[in-house]
Formats: sequence, structure tokens, C-alpha cells
Amino acid sequence: MTKRVYNFYAGPATLPLPALKKAQEDLLNFKDTGMSLMEISHRSKAYAEVHAEASNLVRKLMKVPNDYKILWLQGGASSQFFMVPLNLQKDGKPFEYVNTGAWSKKAIKEGKFYGEVNVVASSEDENFSYIPKNIKFSDDAAFAHVTGNNTIFGTEFHEWPKLSTDVPLACDMSSHIMDKATDVKKFGVIYAGAQKNIGPSGVTLVIVREDLLDRVPENTPTMQKWKTHADKDSLFNTGPCWAIYMCKLSLEHLNGLGGVPAIEKINRKKAKMLYDTFDKSDGFYKGHAKPDSRSLMNITFNLKTPELEEKCVKEASECDLIGLKGHRSVGGMRASIYNAMPVDGVEKLAEFLKEFQEKNE
Ligand SMILES: *Cc1c(COP(=O)(O)O)cnc(C)c1O
Repeated sequence: MTKRVYNFYAGPATLPLPALKKAQEDLLNFKDTGMSLMEISHRSKAYAEVHAEASNLVRKLMKVPNDYKILWLQGGASSQFFMVPLNLQKDGKPFEYVNTGAWSKKAIKEGKFYGEVNVVASSEDENFSYIPKNIKFSDDAAFAHVTGNNTIFGTEFHEWPKLSTDVPLACDMSSHIMDKATDVKKFGVIYAGAQKNIGPSGVTLVIVREDLLDRVPENTPTMQKWKTHADKDSLFNTGPCWAIYMCKLSLEHLNGLGGVPAIEKINRKKAKMLYDTFDKSDGFYKGHAKPDSRSLMNITFNLKTPELEEKCVKEASECDLIGLKGHRSVGGMRASIYNAMPVDGVEKLAEFLKEFQEKNE
């Protein structure tokens, strides 16, 4: 058996083992072409099927309505930070953002290249340990923007803000797309770098409502318009075929498990195991996020001293529990337990943390 560890890295992140095995099996001879998928035309029939299946799986798993387009783009979620304001600007109206952490700030920075930005709510006052409540967007913004899950700080929206039907809501779902049932109709656009919850790095999924595609100014470079990609079903130029193929395999696996409702149950169970461990530790482990804002995907926590945290990360890695060091901007520890992280891995981590506490109290 090949050695495999439990990989808690934030991204690129663990992928479903069956998806990796299928890719391995297909590698040298994809669908009897005698070539790998990486070596064949993005216009070939063999690839066209992969491409269509990947999009169909997204549509099925997220129940994406027909008036939304599914795009597979490059440049990472980071490129959507500018493509959102570029494509959604309207009549000089302001853009409204919620600042819930490092990724929100990056999105806000890019918005300012295209118009007036208002930050309508922020949790910076308490080091981004919560999701602001009663967020009020105005009725005449060009669009509103939220970061659905804050990968670095470990907080997640559990209720979507309400806003006027005239104001499309844009959401960065990079680190939690498909972690729980989400009503796509609430959003004008959803985007996600694939490498956290649905696939490898190299491709970004964008789900955008059709009527928003015409807002983009005429003099925008072709590749930066969502419309270019929407009109050509993301085959305007050579796309990241291999990355899309890996997304297809990983989404097939999710579909086989019973789709989003099934994984949501599993995700809630996994996250609860770790949060319960903290809550029962008499303060030995302290979760960073406030209980009502806790992420299902990125579990951030601290021990009493940085030395103890370092020791904990090191001993965990000796038990094949890998990637638990917190992001450099917050320190502490972080367990990223995306859809592909098996329950076993989280059980093993919770067990390890209990034992580590007993030995180090
Ligand atoms: C990782 C991450 C990004 C950046 O994604 P890239 O694909 O590397 O550009 C953006 N937003 C969130 C919430 C992330 O977790």
C-alpha cells in the first residue's frame, strides 16, 4: 500500500482517494485514446465529455438554476477579486463589501480600482473572530460582496445577509463551496478557487447569473469578461483541462456519497468533534472563532503558549496528522477538514489532541 497521511493543509488540500486512484488508472491511456488527458486537444470529443460532466455535476450538486452560467477560469480566486467589480460595475454606483478577514481585504483592495468602495460591516475589531450580524447593504449599490468562509480565521456565514433584489450578492466560496446546502438564487455570482474543497489548483469555478453578463464595459480586455467565457462554455481558449478533469472526479465522488446534503451532515459531525474537544478541555485548547461563527471547514485554535503549539504540531505530524500549523497572520493551529477529509482523520486528530492534553497539562 502507498503511504497516505491525514492532510489538514488549507489549500491545495486533500482530495478524495478514489478520485486520485481513478486519475492514476486513466493516466497513460485516457478512454482508450492511447494518450493521457493532458496530451489531447481541448476540442476533442474525449475532453468535451469531461468538460460537460464537470459542469453538469456542479449544476446538479448545487441545484444551480438554468439562468446561471458555470465557468471554469484561470487566475485563481484572486483574479475574481478584480473580475467581480470589473464585470459588475454599474452607472458609477458604489460597491459594498463585508470585511471578515484577509481574503475580504484583498477583494476590497481590487474593488477600489473600479469604483467607490464602502465597507458596510467588519469584524476586524476582534481579530476577525466572528461574522457580523444584521449587515445592512444599501439599495443602490452596484453589488455587494462577502467572503463565505474565512479560511485563515476559521469563521463562516451560517445565515446569508438579506439585500434588495436589485443588488446582486457576490460571494467568495473558495474554502467552503458545497460544504452545506446553499441556495444559489440568493447570489448574483459565486466563485471559488478549486484547490480547497472541490479539486486541485489551477482552476476557478464561477457561477454567474446570466443577466449580469452584459454590464461589463465594452473596452474591457476579452479574457477579463465573464461574457467571453460564458458565450463559449469556458472553451474560448485552452482551459485547465487536467484540473477540470480532477474536479469532475472529485465531484463524482461527492455525488456518490449522496451529494451536498450527505456531506453537510458529515461535515457538521467532523467539525463538532473538534469543537467539542476544545469546549471540554478546560481552556487547554481555545477556539479562535466565536461559537455562532465557527467554520465547518477550517478549525482554528490556540494553546497556552507558542512553544506548546509548536510541540503539538510536531507530535501530530509524527502521528501522520499533517499540516496543522496556523496561518502566519494568526498563529496557533488550524485543521482544515474539507469535504475530502474522512471522518477517520478527524477522529484520529481529536483523539490525539485529548492525549496531548493529558500529557502536557
Ligand atoms: C485560498 C483563498 C483565496 C485565494 O485563492 P487563489 O485561487 O489562490 O487565488 C481566495 N479566497 C479565499 C476565501 C481563499 O481561501
